[in-house]
Amino acid sequence: MFNAEHKPEIGVEEPLMEGLSVVTAPNASPMTFTGTRSYILGDREVAIIDPGPNDPAHLAALQKALRGRTVSHVLVTHSHVDHSPLAHVFGAPVLAFGPSGAGMSDVMRSLQGLQGGEGIDADFAPDVTLADGDIVQGNGWQVEALHTPGHMSNHLCFAFEGGLFSGDHVMAWSTTLVSPPDGDLTQFMASLRKLQGRAEARYFAGHGPVLEDPQAMLAYQIAHRLEREAQILEALPNDIPAITAAVYKGLDSRLLPMAARNVFSHLIDLHQRGMVHCNGPISFNGRFEQVE
Ligand SMILES: [Zn+2]
Repeated sequence: MFNAEHKPEIGVEEPLMEGLSVVTAPNASPMTFTGTRSYILGDREVAIIDPGPNDPAHLAALQKALRGRTVSHVLVTHSHVDHSPLAHVFGAPVLAFGPSGAGMSDVMRSLQGLQGGEGIDADFAPDVTLADGDIVQGNGWQVEALHTPGHMSNHLCFAFEGGLFSGDHVMAWSTTLVSPPDGDLTQFMASLRKLQGRAEARYFAGHGPVLEDPQAMLAYQIAHRLEREAQILEALPNDIPAITAAVYKGLDSRLLPMAARNVFSHLIDLHQRGMVHCNGPISFNGRFEQVE
């Protein structure tokens, strides 16, 4: 299902189709795969989608690719530090759903004592906020903003003539991290289902190669999460460390904290849907049982 064959030339403009190219940032890592993908949409007056991390080498590579062209818009899918920090350096208006935390659900706001904020660009401030369904028109291109919270509450995808800029919501190389309180599994599942109702045939993601069969990937990811949900329900009643140990048998112990976060994101979702009960206000330290 996943395509981990990807060897982009870092810092070099790579043409993808008529009026679309990409520059890959030098920030490869286990979380960012081969590096953040900054897209350039249009011919002479262009939009940049996800200008990328605050890295002088990446900025220089983008400036080289943009020589002889004007940037009319900077579009940001979400304000993680590998996507948004260069947004304001091009002298063009920055368009996004909102600052970090915009679009967050009440339950995520209510979570006490849970560390979050990993990799968040806390200072991110768009010049123009976009709502779901808003159309942005440039010279020779047009995009539709789709609010797709889940990986992060202010996440947008952008539909255009050639497909969809899918940010970190749906990628070809991996599933997406959904870690509370910044990530919200209830929102994430709804955002996957939202894209099932659309026809874009190719996804240009924030990391990794072009996703050529997005509907198969959407179906796979929904099924994968439902399978995990069933395993978690089977491990109840219990607390998060014990559920994590039961569901992720044999997992490298260094990865257990991340797995526990994932279990918690499922338990919050199940709690929201009235399927599990927590002994007290929902928290990472709670004990969970199935509602009969
Ligand atoms: Zn991200």
